[in-house]
Amino acid sequence: MKLPTRSKSYMIPEYSLTGDLLSYITCGLQYRYQNKGTLPPSKPVQRWFGEFIHGVMEEAYLDWKYHEKEFPWDWKTDIRPIEDEIDLRLQVRGLYPHDEDLFFSINQPGSDLKLEDLNEHDHKKLASARAEKAINIWGRHLFPLIDASEILIKGVRPMPNYDKNISRSNYYGINGVVDVLTSTKINRIHEQSTLYNFDNKIVEFIKKNLDETDIEDYEIIIDYKGMKRPPTKVADLQSEDKWENHKQQILTYSWLRSKQEDAKNISAGIILYLNELVPSIEDLTLIKEEIINDLTDVPVNDEFYDDIQLILNWQEDEKMPNLSEEFKIARSIRFIAINDEERRKAVEKFDRVVEDIENSLIKETKGCKIQDAWKAEADKRTCSACDFRTFCKNNSDITKDFKIP
Ligand code: SF4
Repeated sequence: MKLPTRSKSYMIPEYSLTGDLLSYITCGLQYRYQNKGTLPPSKPVQRWFGEFIHGVMEEAYLDWKYHEKEFPWDWKTDIRPIEDEIDLRLQVRGLYPHDEDLFFSINQPGSDLKLEDLNEHDHKKLASARAEKAINIWGRHLFPLIDASEILIKGVRPMPNYDKNISRSNYYGINGVVDVLTSTKINRIHEQSTLYNFDNKIVEFIKKNLDETDIEDYEIIIDYKGMKRPPTKVADLQSEDKWENHKQQILTYSWLRSKQEDAKNISAGIILYLNELVPSIEDLTLIKEEIINDLTDVPVNDEFYDDIQLILNWQEDEKMPNLSEEFKIARSIRFIAINDEERRKAVEKFDRVVEDIENSLIKETKGCKIQDAWKAEADKRTCSACDFRTFCKNNSDITKDFKIP
């Protein structure tokens, strides 16, 4: 009797929007070493801060939802335990902050530190200061509008240029995680704020930007970024167009969300650039350059005249200027309208990135050297923070140690 053989396992390659798409666009070779290799990066500071601030916002939302804590929250008693928990979760995955960015974990084995041992200096550490502002400035406006947090959105697409003799699979999967706001909650908070005379800055922002005339029931996707607001145009062809890439990311999220059964009409996406609430020296230097070169969409005229003058007159070796909260809020929030045509183009762009990654993988499996199989192109800033800069042939910069921007 002939025994049946087990059929070959059928696996669809999965791609995430942030871990794969944005990472690959930043630099293909760095993506290969970090994501497809086994070595965790030694100082993935940008990645640490992005994941840290995301985790802090999600945990703070749950804390607010289940304990109904009033704002403002006290950094030492309400926020520091959240920071500590997220820091520990990231440490388990091999992601660590620089000492000057975050007070080290009070829960470390053998540590006899307590909350009371913290002081104002620890709070001033960049990651802590940003976590506090993110919760106390955005949390109070955002949390009451969230209808569902941390939703996993997934979809399947045909493999671009599928060839049964070469391709790994005839389909590939895309996934992402988002928070969703609904019109029901937005309208309820809007009515309450009119009735009781308080402002919800996110509702105001949505009402100002969204044309709701023919939409009854809608959703808005929220994403947080642990970075400054990108310039609206790139200075040179080598630089990554983060402004456009973030838009593509939101459009693709919205396509994925639209495929879910409980999804409503997805009208827009909002990105919160959380570094804008506490900019670093490096951030402010770039903001100044962007104002001078007309590369920002945030008004530089009457509305923020004083803030703009403070920035233009500021020098890197001076104390940071005291910018108004309104200016920081305006720079921190970005609205992205969703339109079907642009959404289709964004998903097709994702297809092209997957095609590039798959082609590089195939080249590598056929024996091509890693550095020849993967595209290595990045701006100076990315290269200066890259773990592989010492041996990468395309390193565009060799500089000092990198700190969170
Ligand atoms: S040094 Fe620059 S070009 Fe080379 S892998 Fe790193 S980021 Fe990419």
